[in-house]
Amino acid sequence: MTTESNTAPVSNFLRTIIDQDLKAQRHATKRWAGKPGPAAVQKTGSIDTASIRTRFPPEPNGYLHIGHAKSICLNFGLARDYNGACHLRFDDTNPEKEEQEYVDAIIDMVHWLGFDWKYQEEDNLYFASDYFAFMYEFAEALISADLAYVDEQTAEQMRENRGSLTSPGTDSPWRDRPAAESLRLLGEMRDGAHPDGSMALRAKIDMASPNINMRDPVMYRIRHATHHRTGDAWCIYPMYSWAHPVEDALEGITHSICTLEFEDQRPYYNWILEHLRDLGFFSDPLPQQYEFARLYLSYVVTSKRKLRQLVLENHVHGWDDPRLPTLAGLRRRGYTAESIRLFCERIGVSKADSRIDYSILEQALRDDLDPKAARSVAVLDPIKLIITNYPEGQSETCSAPINPHDPDAGRREFPFSRELWIERDDFRETPVKRYFRLFPDNLVRLKYGYVVKCTGFVKDSDGNVVEVHAEYLPDTKSGTPGADSVKVKGNITWISAQHAVAAEIRLYDRLFTDAHPDVGDKDFLTLINPNSLSVVQGWVEPGLVAEAGAHWQFERLGYFVADRIESTPEKPVLNRSTTLRDTWV
Ligand code: ATP
Ligand code: MG
Repeated sequence: MTTESNTAPVSNFLRTIIDQDLKAQRHATKRWAGKPGPAAVQKTGSIDTASIRTRFPPEPNGYLHIGHAKSICLNFGLARDYNGACHLRFDDTNPEKEEQEYVDAIIDMVHWLGFDWKYQEEDNLYFASDYFAFMYEFAEALISADLAYVDEQTAEQMRENRGSLTSPGTDSPWRDRPAAESLRLLGEMRDGAHPDGSMALRAKIDMASPNINMRDPVMYRIRHATHHRTGDAWCIYPMYSWAHPVEDALEGITHSICTLEFEDQRPYYNWILEHLRDLGFFSDPLPQQYEFARLYLSYVVTSKRKLRQLVLENHVHGWDDPRLPTLAGLRRRGYTAESIRLFCERIGVSKADSRIDYSILEQALRDDLDPKAARSVAVLDPIKLIITNYPEGQSETCSAPINPHDPDAGRREFPFSRELWIERDDFRETPVKRYFRLFPDNLVRLKYGYVVKCTGFVKDSDGNVVEVHAEYLPDTKSGTPGADSVKVKGNITWISAQHAVAAEIRLYDRLFTDAHPDVGDKDFLTLINPNSLSVVQGWVEPGLVAEAGAHWQFERLGYFVADRIESTPEKPVLNRSTTLRDTWV
């Protein structure tokens, strides 16, 4: 683990459970052979030195999003704090939608967040598809023990016979077929003798169980599909609910932490592990499943299906579009790994679903960047200010702190000259009440420069102001004894026009106009904000070198990052990460 938290972790119900397990020495005799495998393999190993084992098990069918970050920080964070191990396991049991591209992107983002899956010498990066042979062997054993059978009902019939919340299900006519027949059919299924959907392997539990998940759940289905890792080696694929406990047990996971919707699956999870233990494949203590509440964040969608749709139908520009709540998008937007970890710490972990306001995420970024981001100036909507009493061709140096919270960071220098860029909004022909910036005859301070008095303006033939004129007061330069001799109420930012560097600046608004675009039966695509991106050509301070990934606070405008894909020092492309204050209502 590479990240250290500098404060004591906030407790939560999972930490309480782990504390109790450690105190009771629940896992004290657990053996670990240094690699996944059933009991026969594990018993050749020594006592596991990892006090706990957790796992983060993404399905490689899309990019990670902020919800996954909650699970990553939780699972890897627990392993770090308890001197345990957290495995990164790709749950690649569903061949159709999974791709290597997603595997690579997930690895990249978990690393970026500051976590890794090394524990001492171990590299705990695993793929569920590596366990297909074990799963098959265990399935045969369950059949032989009269705990599973091949069902030839159609999917439709299975659904009908499953019953409902208020009525029990009906046994399949194939439920009591001899084990030998099921074994033969499972072999034929594996060998490709039967078409998709013609039969399935089901656990034999209880068709009348009040928990529908226990009504003979399907374990294997036939899918003649090419898998991104196993190719065409298999044409039967395990269902998630059957595969997951097996994956956990093979990896010696102690605490299998998942989201609340799996609570009703827990009895089945335990059913599988207890029977496989009784059959000798696993030994106590078995992995235990615990559930926590998913993250629901306002103004975004975090279902991978919906994110996929946004990307594949070109509603956004790729998985790392800075408007998306994907980790790749947030990174490109300028979110730091620290800010995302801070956010996850602040929202905590509980068993009750709740919606988290997007502003909490933005505040975490501000809190992370405020002490460390260099200050700079940009002008996004420029209008020229001409200092008519300042000689043409002359310039002089002004300076400002790089970060006012950090005097050790030093000062930055930038030139003052006769022609400056200022924000259009910093001038009014006729001021409104409480407007203290430039308007005819008013005095303002050019921040870190001189006090100037507005003396006029020039309009084009359409009546738009194109130039503002002012005279500077020579004795009032910031940092000189005369600086305070003239009191002004307004303070504006500026850049010397001749020295300014042109930059493309991308300003983002929320991607959806509705705070809860994915709730109920709303069509989230109709709720896309048409103005979520605006691109402006602005000016930035000459000293600014827009190395990809560099962060700044532009005074008054917010936090910005140099776009990690498109920005170069010669042609800066800057993304606004967040404004300085909460603008989300
Ligand atoms: P989706 O439904 O969007 O496809 P998923 O839960 O199926 O998401 P997985 O790749 O299976 O996505 O998720 C990997 C892990 O991340 C799981 O353990 C899951 O519980 C966790 N996770 C996914 N989304 C969230 C979320 N919004 N909040 C917390 N944890 C999440
Ligand atoms: Mg999933």
